[in-house]
Amino acid sequence: MKTSYRALRIQGIDIEIHLSFLLLPLILGVYYGNLYGPMIGVRAVVLVLLVFGSVLAHELTHSIVARHFGILVPVITLYPIGGVASMQRIPREARKEFLISVAGPLFNFTLALLLLFPFYLWLGKDTLLSPTLSHWPGTWSNFYWANLVLGLFNLIPAFPMDGGRILRAILARCMNYEKATRISVYLGRIFAILFFLFGIWQSRWMLVLVGLFIYVAADNEKRLAHFEELLTKAERERKIEH
Ligand code: ZN
Repeated sequence: MKTSYRALRIQGIDIEIHLSFLLLPLILGVYYGNLYGPMIGVRAVVLVLLVFGSVLAHELTHSIVARHFGILVPVITLYPIGGVASMQRIPREARKEFLISVAGPLFNFTLALLLLFPFYLWLGKDTLLSPTLSHWPGTWSNFYWANLVLGLFNLIPAFPMDGGRILRAILARCMNYEKATRISVYLGRIFAILFFLFGIWQSRWMLVLVGLFIYVAADNEKRLAHFEELLTKAERERKIEH
């Protein structure tokens, strides 16, 4: 069954929305609306859509840098937990992987920097420092901070976040690719377990979910790197035989 549908096409890249994504604004809107009144519900939905605009632009930035290096990016899919740009295999060139990975968080930080002064003038210092859904200016302030959190969260040096790839690219300069992946994957697992436990302790279920997601994704990355290692080894041996 098809679970993602094309919503847009930007610069030749299909932007697809996963069906589960539609649940997120719906659930948050109903939850906040029920708890704090309908206008807060509406603002929660608008905020989710704004943040996902930022997530999409983050993925597009990765994709544009990747394309610059000749890597095909046919689709970007939006899931409730974030966006995923499906790229053709990234070549094992540390410099390219580093630049592609760093581009996304850099977009978020650049946006935050560009918005800082206009938002400061428009919203005022107090509102900018205390994001809330009680009024519209506070909702924009929420968007501002969400954008910074997005950039920082992605820099966590653990797979499958951008920070994990950045770390692998740096490690791969002084060790082989598989070992660099293994270290980033282990770090990913540690962060996943920390997120999971902290989420349970603080009853923050989104963090529990993120922890589970990171754990599974980190594992997949390790298997992929191991498989690629076997392939290159087999190729090398075949070349020696010939
Ligand atoms: Zn990213």
